[in-house]
Amino acid sequence: MTTPDNSCPICCGGHKQPETTTFTVDLGFGVVVVRGVPAEVCDLCGVDWIEDGVTEKLEAIVDRARQEKPVVKVANWRDELSALVC
Ligand SMILES: [Zn+2]
Repeated sequence: MTTPDNSCPICCGGHKQPETTTFTVDLGFGVVVVRGVPAEVCDLCGVDWIEDGVTEKLEAIVDRARQEKPVVKVANWRDELSALVC
């Protein structure tokens, strides 16, 4: 029996769907929240997977935010992405 690629390995009943998720990172001195991050989200248990390319850009966004030393920064993925483009 074969399992489709998009089946969820966590709950074994759901399927990964292209969705957006909210990425949160705790920097110690503050928290950075990026909303609208493209990800695959399980339609049953809600676990999300973020692609490598997206993770790299998230790291760049977090690096920029770290220099601002925010207590709480809420960013929007699309806005931050356009700011990163050289
Ligand atoms: Zn699942």
